Amino acid sequence: MNLDIRALKSMNDYLIPPDETFIKKERDNARKLRTSQWWKRKRSSGICHYCNNNFPPNEITMDHVIPLSRGGKSQKFNLVPCCKECNTKKKQLLPFEWEEYMAFIKK
Ligand SMILES: [Zn+2]
Repeated sequence: MNLDIRALKSMNDYLIPPDETFIKKERDNARKLRTSQWWKRKRSSGICHYCNNNFPPNEITMDHVIPLSRGGKSQKFNLVPCCKECNTKKKQLLPFEWEEYMAFIKK
């Protein structure tokens, strides 16, 4: 297999997480937003942003569309209700695998 050094390098850059203070601050913000009316309303809808299935509100978690580890922020546009199954999958899969999974379940 031929390894493209440039591709490897950019992949590496992609995997470098933002610094700890950024993540800590955004985690705090997420915690605050979790107690807001805005989030309570979203959660009580019970609909997972990804698979579109309906769940009891206590099974809905808050998900960062762009993960904090990739520089995503705890802002409303980056936070979606997400079922436990999708949340687990999203954490386990690489971004491109997740894209494939999304394409698969949206068919
Ligand atoms: Zn789901």
